[in-house]
Amino acid sequence: MPQAILPILTNILVAAMFIGAFLVTAHTYPMVRRARWFALAFAFGVIEPLAGLAIWLGGNVAVLQTIGFASFLTALVTMALAMSHYHKRRPMWASAALILICGCLWRVATIEAPRDTVWYQLSFQSWFTFGAILCTVAMKRHAPPSLLNRCLVGVSVVMALHFPLKAAFAIWLGTGATERDYAGTIYAAISQASSGLLTIAAGLLVIASFLHSVVRASQTEALSDPLTGLPNRRALDRWLDVAQSADTHTALSIAIIDVDHFKRFNDRFGHAVGDEVLRKVAACLERNRPSAGHAARIGGEEFVLLLPLDQRAAFLACESMRLAIEQLDYADADLITVSIGMATMKAGEATGDLLRRADRALYRAKAAGRDRCEIDAADGEVARQIAPPALKLVPRR
Ligand code: GH3
Ligand code: MG
Ligand code: MG
Repeated sequence: MPQAILPILTNILVAAMFIGAFLVTAHTYPMVRRARWFALAFAFGVIEPLAGLAIWLGGNVAVLQTIGFASFLTALVTMALAMSHYHKRRPMWASAALILICGCLWRVATIEAPRDTVWYQLSFQSWFTFGAILCTVAMKRHAPPSLLNRCLVGVSVVMALHFPLKAAFAIWLGTGATERDYAGTIYAAISQASSGLLTIAAGLLVIASFLHSVVRASQTEALSDPLTGLPNRRALDRWLDVAQSADTHTALSIAIIDVDHFKRFNDRFGHAVGDEVLRKVAACLERNRPSAGHAARIGGEEFVLLLPLDQRAAFLACESMRLAIEQLDYADADLITVSIGMATMKAGEATGDLLRRADRALYRAKAAGRDRCEIDAADGEVARQIAPPALKLVPRR
């Protein structure tokens, strides 16, 4: 058996396995349905070794040679289109079509040309180099910067460089007197083995990037509240863990914000209008929070603000937030007010205790008549003198 037949068969099986893996991934995770494009690219790619095999088995050389060339070039070009499509960017259709059409015309025009000349080998491989360059450009332009994507760019670059190298090997080692002798040459074994290795590297990286997308999306989902899109209680706990372990002297205040008489509001206007209010409150918190702070919905009509601010600045931020929420335009609703309980971290205090103190302050705000911000009594009497008269003058609806 000619020495290149084994790597040719291996390449067919490897490509088939990747096609299966891409299709199963696309079917299992609807968010990476675009993985089917990569299956299509590999499906074109598998035709090339199949054509080589058919030539060795005695098929029509000119036809199979053209099919093999066109399918491999189509595979590279489709890979570039798939990369753009996967990242929801417009694929470079025009460049892809140009490479494909010119490449195929060249193939048809040179089908009878002598094979082992520098000109022939360089021009033969140059079309695949163009295809690999298109993949590199698609990745660089359309894929977000990440370690995985940088590795994929690296593989595309190596692929683009390895084609001219193949041309040099072809001239040096010879590609066989006729196309039918190709499978028996050392060059064919080297060429098929290098293509196989690069295919495996690209395929594995593509699958890793699918899984990365799926894991990242489910992490985001696990940390966000579906109604408002704000981070949820789990996300808050993570921030609190980070704040607890951080060895910094940055001030930290926590505010718990609770919509007043929301049950009554729901009963009067219906749950759907209530939901709309919660979404508006969430958007207002997200819009107005300090950039280094965090807003989260921790349950029902309760929200939390983490503020990297000292007591005075945090109180001012909470008051302006309270007034901003009350000024929102609520369809069908008379007036929405919120009560806020706030506490500022003491040296060495556990975040759990800080949260409990903010909750205690919220209870006081409710007991004192709602529509106000209270600071936990343990933060000192200073708190009582903070309320700025200017904020009190903001007109209420
Ligand atoms: P208070 O001023 O003492 O906070 O009174 P309240 O009515 O706001 O508090 P209570 O805890 O008695 O009721 C909270 C209400 O929040 C009850 C529930 O109907 C409503 N709620 C909780 N989650 C949601 C939600 O996702 N959507 C809507 N529309 N309402 C919710
Ligand atoms: Mg509540
Ligand atoms: Mg409430």
